[in-house]
Amino acid sequence: MTRSELDVIIVGAGPAGLCAAMYAGRGLLRSVLIERGIPGGELLNTEWIDDYPGFEHVLGRTLAELMAAHAVKFGADIRQDTVESIIKRDDGIFEVATALGQVYEAPAVILTAGGTPTKLEVPGELEYAGRGVSYCAVCDGAFFKGETLAVIGGGDAAVEEADYLTRYGQKVYVIHRRDQFRASKILQERVFANPKIEVLWNKRVREFTGTPAGLQSVELEDTVTGDRFSLAATGAFVFIGFRPNTGLVKQHVDHDPSGYLITDDRMMTSLPGLFAAGDVRSQLTRQITTAVGDATTAAIAVDKYLTDRKSRLASKARVGV
Ligand code: NAP
Repeated sequence: MTRSELDVIIVGAGPAGLCAAMYAGRGLLRSVLIERGIPGGELLNTEWIDDYPGFEHVLGRTLAELMAAHAVKFGADIRQDTVESIIKRDDGIFEVATALGQVYEAPAVILTAGGTPTKLEVPGELEYAGRGVSYCAVCDGAFFKGETLAVIGGGDAAVEEADYLTRYGQKVYVIHRRDQFRASKILQERVFANPKIEVLWNKRVREFTGTPAGLQSVELEDTVTGDRFSLAATGAFVFIGFRPNTGLVKQHVDHDPSGYLITDDRMMTSLPGLFAAGDVRSQLTRQITTAVGDATTAAIAVDKYLTDRKSRLASKARVGV
């Protein structure tokens, strides 16, 4: 097991991690950015992006490559490895242990490990992801102007996003496995009042089917009668839950009821020295723009945190505490 001493360790190389690494590099902080896969995070699961300023229409993977190259240009040290645990020691130093047997040590960590939308795990879901199947209405809704859409789920996210998607779709079906929504009543009322929305109760998705050009239909099964039928739809939005990747931190960190980490206005969590940015953070919306905004704040705040920490330690040493 080898150990490296650093100023800051950044965990996860999506847009937030890459942006934090770029700012850390510009601030001449000794940092590493640890990513288990290829840098890019959720950008790599998105085909086209048209809501990132300055890029009217850009491939997710192209934006990921540009962000990674930009971070590296300013000194980012990206290591491909899987973080297994983050522990803060009594002396205030974090130990970040990885699958390759490394232990990175630093007084600050920026957690940008993102989150994972829950998948239906039915045939065709992966095949049509980015070509009809989506997990983000704000990101992808505009690609489906005038089309027939399906939204899967019955919680707040499904109901709220179904309402949002009627801006684009000519018809939006909400497919729910039971005969009542879990969503709050006020959001439900909006859906029931929206003439473009039709709810299909007691239906389970069996499969997504289509052509090489993209999704064409959603194969459904009635959970009561067992009857099967095919619903024509060129876009399907799955909202059956989202899990932030926060389990790596082995100490208590304040979080909201859904598990997202609560931060102050400097992106610091309740565990001093642990900062959070992007999809792991509790906030109104989760966009590429908000992820890089969080990360900018976090990296600059880390610099200030380290300066304050150094002067605290120096004054303690002077008075011999
Ligand atoms: P959620 O509340 O957990 O709802 C998930 C929905 O997906 C449920 O209706 C569930 O059905 C369904 N589901 C789960 N697994 C499924 C599967 N394998 N196949 C088909 N359906 C499945 O998740 P969420 O809607 O993402 O919300 C997460 C949290 O964020 C909640 O606390 C929510 O209140 C909050 N949120 C709030 C707002 C808002 O206030 N505006 C907006 C979005 C999210 P069952 O009902 O049958 O279990």
